[in-house]
Amino acid sequence: MKLAIVVPCYNEEEVLTETTAQLSHVLDILKDGKLVDEGVILYVDDGSKDRTWELVETYARENPYVAGIKLAHNVGHQQALWAGLEWAAVHADASVSIDADLQDDVNVIGEMVAYYAKGIDVVFGVRRERKTDTFFKRTTAQGFYRLMRGLGGDIVYNHADFRLMSRRALQALVSFPERNLFLRGMVSSLGFPSALVYYNRKERLAGESKYPFRKMLSFAIDGITSFSVRPIRYIAYLGILFMLIAVAAIIYGLCSYADGQTIPGWTSLIVSVWFIGGAILLACGIIGEYIGKIYKEVKRRPRYIIEKGVKCD
Ligand code: UDP
Ligand code: MG
Repeated sequence: MKLAIVVPCYNEEEVLTETTAQLSHVLDILKDGKLVDEGVILYVDDGSKDRTWELVETYARENPYVAGIKLAHNVGHQQALWAGLEWAAVHADASVSIDADLQDDVNVIGEMVAYYAKGIDVVFGVRRERKTDTFFKRTTAQGFYRLMRGLGGDIVYNHADFRLMSRRALQALVSFPERNLFLRGMVSSLGFPSALVYYNRKERLAGESKYPFRKMLSFAIDGITSFSVRPIRYIAYLGILFMLIAVAAIIYGLCSYADGQTIPGWTSLIVSVWFIGGAILLACGIIGEYIGKIYKEVKRRPRYIIEKGVKCD
C-alpha cells in the first residue's frame, strides 16, 4: 500500500531537516516491516515567507520520499492540509496528517498503519496529556473541546489533526464541497470504522507556534459555527425566557400598582422593557432558525456516504 504523510508547513525552515529525517526513518521501518510498499512525505508549503519551499525542493531532489506542493499564499492550516489530503485521495491508499513541528509522536504512525491493515478507515491520534503545553493553551484547548461537545459537535476529545485516513475516507471527505473547514469535526462525521491511538504531546522541535491567540480564537469560532446552529437556537430560548419574565413582571407590576406603591410610569416601563427585549430576542431566534437552514443548504454536503454494499453493483 502507498502511504502519504501530509505535512502543512508555514515558515517551518527551522524544523524541516529534523522532520524529514524522522519521517523518512518511520517510512523506512514501515517498509522493512512490509506494512507499507511505497511512502511519500508530502509537504504543503502554506505560502511561507522563509526558506521552507527551497528546503522542500532540495529534499525532494535528495530524498526519494519527499514531494511538495507550494500554495501561492497563506491560506491557513486547515486549508493547507485539505490541499494535501485532496492530493492523497488520488495518489495514495492512505494518508497520515501531521504537523511539521513533530509535537505529535511519529512513532505511533506504525500503530495507525497496523489498524489500517486490519481494515480500519480512520485512526485518530489522541493526546494523553498536555504537560508540554502552557497552562493557558491547555485550559483554553480543553475548554474548547467541552464547549464544542456541549453544542453537539461530534469531535474526538484531545484529537487535533494527527490522523490516518484510508482512501475511501479521504474520497468521502473531499466530496464535502464546503469552504469553511473544520477537519476534525468533518472527519468524525464521516462515520467509517475508526480507532484511537494515544501518545504524549511533545514540545515543538524549534521555532514558534504558528497559531497565535488570534488564530486560535478564530479557529475555535469557525469550529463552532461550522458545526452547530445551536447558538442561534439558544437566542430563541433566551427570548422565550425573557417573555416569561415579562409575564412575571406584568403581574408584579400590576400588583405593585394596585398597592399604590409605585411611581407613575414605572409599571408600564418595566413591563415594556422585558416584553420588548424578549420579543426581539425571540424574533432574532426565529430568523436565525431560517438562516441556520440556509446555512446547511449552502454547505451542499453529501446527503449520505456509503460504506459498503453487497450484491449491489
Ligand atoms: N500552519 C500552516 N498554516 C498556517 C499556520 C500553521 O500550514 O497559517 C501549520 C504549521 O506549519 C504546523 C501546523 O500548521 O505544521 C500547526 O501549527 P503549530 O504547530 O504552529 O500550531 P500549535 O501546535 O502551536 O497549535
Ligand atoms: Mg505545533
